[in-house]
Amino acid sequence: MRAVLFEQYGEPASVREVSDPHLTPHGVVVRVEATGLCRSDWHGWQGHDPDITLPHVPGHELAGTVESVGPRVSNWHPGDRVTVPFVCACGTCPTCAAGDHQICEHQTQPGFTHWGSFAQYVALDHADVNLVAVPEALSFATAAALGCRFATAFRAVVQQGRAAAGEWVAVHGCGGVGLSAVMIAAASGARVVAVDVSPQALDLARKFGAVECVDASRTPDTAAAVLELTGGGAHLSLDALGSPVTCAASVNGLRRRGRHVQVGLLPSADGTTPVPMARAIALELEILGSHGMAAHTYPAMLELVRAGVLRPDLLVTSTITLDATPAALAAMGTAPGAGVTVIEPWA
Ligand SMILES: [Zn+2]
Ligand SMILES: [Zn+2]
Repeated sequence: MRAVLFEQYGEPASVREVSDPHLTPHGVVVRVEATGLCRSDWHGWQGHDPDITLPHVPGHELAGTVESVGPRVSNWHPGDRVTVPFVCACGTCPTCAAGDHQICEHQTQPGFTHWGSFAQYVALDHADVNLVAVPEALSFATAAALGCRFATAFRAVVQQGRAAAGEWVAVHGCGGVGLSAVMIAAASGARVVAVDVSPQALDLARKFGAVECVDASRTPDTAAAVLELTGGGAHLSLDALGSPVTCAASVNGLRRRGRHVQVGLLPSADGTTPVPMARAIALELEILGSHGMAAHTYPAMLELVRAGVLRPDLLVTSTITLDATPAALAAMGTAPGAGVTVIEPWA
């Protein structure tokens, strides 16, 4: 099969002919029809993810059709249209037994713990636990966007953040996760303040339902701007970018008893990020993390997509080939662009 491969961190990736993925007893091999290009792929390529071993094929937000099925899989058959959360769970550890597949103790992540979906085929383990059926009405490109950024945003806003109608929700960083969060919070009836350095990203945020926008490139203190626009602070605030600056701004823009959800990854050399905990005490803030979303909670999200309340299709702003992917991966570092880029490996 053809795949995007890199042999050294930060060195240009290339499209190669590699061997097809290996089928496990509980797993499936999926023919990849669409796979999203995410900033996490760029972090992996840069060497920020300890799960990755070289050489490596990135790609973790995918949709496609089941090609072959392991002997211990009961629910899936060749030809089924499927997607997966980027965290694939074991289904049997105590955490999975409690329903928290998104933080499984033995999780696998395509494109991180093993070769991913910037390829014509990808192997996925524990298919009965992790696969999600993609309705005919949903295109593969849209379904691919669900797997990482949209589902991650859904859990952050709805499940962890508990966004409620009438509340102020601040979203710091309007890339794929952030724009998804804007759309989901607005659909929940919240009033959304979007914060980003890019006017294009803020234009999209406004289109997706943000009622206020803060241009961080011209606003030195974005937390103060959020406090002012919301009349005392957001009820819920997300750091959807993942940086010490946006994390602190998110916490500092909350009102009393507000909720901060950290959803953007925070890669740092020493593994720690300063958080304004004195404010967390004084204002009785909740500081929450959010990590993907369990496959078994997808139906509630898919129902809102089916009803047209949520429009993940609007997030897909460009579609590229496998051959164009190495350059696009490199560009994620400097110019992540607005919206979601989807790769079609068979185009
Ligand atoms: Zn991702
Ligand atoms: Zn587990």
